[in-house]
Amino acid sequence: MKGLAILGATGSVGLSTLDVAARHPDRFRVVALGAQRSAAALREQALRFRPDVVALADPGAARELAADFAQAGIATRVLAGSDALSTLATLPEVDFVMAAIVGAAGLPSTLAAARAGKRVLLANKESLVMAGPLLMRAVAEGGATLIPIDSEHNAIFQCLPHAAGGRAGVRRVVLTASGGPFRNRPRETFRDITPEEACAHPVWSMGRKISVDSATLMNKGLEFIEACHLFGLDPVQVVVVLHPQSIVHSLVEYADGSLLAQLGAPDMRTPIACALAWPERIASGVEFLDLVKVARLDFGEPDLERFPCLALGQAAARAGGLVPAAVNAANEVAVAGFLAGRLNFTGIAEVIESVMNKVTGGPIGSIDDVLRADREARARALEALP
Ligand code: NDP
Repeated sequence: MKGLAILGATGSVGLSTLDVAARHPDRFRVVALGAQRSAAALREQALRFRPDVVALADPGAARELAADFAQAGIATRVLAGSDALSTLATLPEVDFVMAAIVGAAGLPSTLAAARAGKRVLLANKESLVMAGPLLMRAVAEGGATLIPIDSEHNAIFQCLPHAAGGRAGVRRVVLTASGGPFRNRPRETFRDITPEEACAHPVWSMGRKISVDSATLMNKGLEFIEACHLFGLDPVQVVVVLHPQSIVHSLVEYADGSLLAQLGAPDMRTPIACALAWPERIASGVEFLDLVKVARLDFGEPDLERFPCLALGQAAARAGGLVPAAVNAANEVAVAGFLAGRLNFTGIAEVIESVMNKVTGGPIGSIDDVLRADREARARALEALP
């Protein structure tokens, strides 16, 4: 029986994780659930899964939930504040931590889980983008296991050799990209794209921030950086290929010319079930793929002029150090500005580029360096908003 903490429990990945865990009550016990302020959703989850403890980063929402639990006689403890998410990640009863908070807010709890030697199921790609070398070191020193949840990186994880020393024959990895909702939309209409259009992904159903990232292809830029850290690759060893059907989730290219791919229906419960049970395999509730119905798989080259955010992400990976943290922060501010109606769609790349042109960069010495780069980039991005 493995104790599970789900951070970001009320989000898209959190809900899929609970769905998989609920199918295997003999294997997983939900020990802790955390979110930002969705008290009503967390209450429902607590009633169903009876965790020992829940946490909300927003102190007011946590107070309301605690009062509600006391009145209803629900024994689950309620913790408040952002530090409480890190507390959940390090509880002794917790074996596995699903890091599914969105954005830079997920970094402290992901690092805490790694330092505490947990199995970290990493959906929060932003933490690896911001602080890749620190997080990978924390995993190694804490004796943690890091299993990627992003479907692309989980596919690569599945296709890599797992025996000691087995990486020698790996030449490159190929990250597939659906191309998002605007792959074929006339570029001259990009300025008119609304948040609702950007959040309506043709294949995946996800939270709003990652949906916009998928529409600009910044998601692939972040994943490019993520792949370099996770698998110890030089940026020249990571290739991005458009694949609109999202059936081939990614591939590993070997020295002998072999390409190993992982295929499946586009449903996050597959990578989640893989990470929860690894190296075993368990049912996820995902429909099996009918290749005859799929019939064709298309591949193409991404258009970097149409989607400059991908090129910016790749440039940040090559620059390394503190540049990816700055790019991530600028993207978060720009996406929030777009979702709030302050910035048009093409403005997202413009804000990121303007911040990137001004950052000083430099190596990552400590978490303080990362947080400083994050703060500075946010301030510059806010200045760049219209
Ligand atoms: P959602 O927006 O659906 O959910 C975000 C979750 O994070 C919610 O539970 C939210 O709580 C919580 N949260 C937000 N801010 C904070 C904070 N400051 N402190 C604590 N909790 C917080 O996001 P997704 O599930 O779509 O994405 C989560 C992560 O997984 C992202 O990093 C994304 O890039 C990655 N990912 C997502 C995929 C998907 O299919 N959705 C696929 C691959 C990766 P509340 O409800 O209270 O606001």
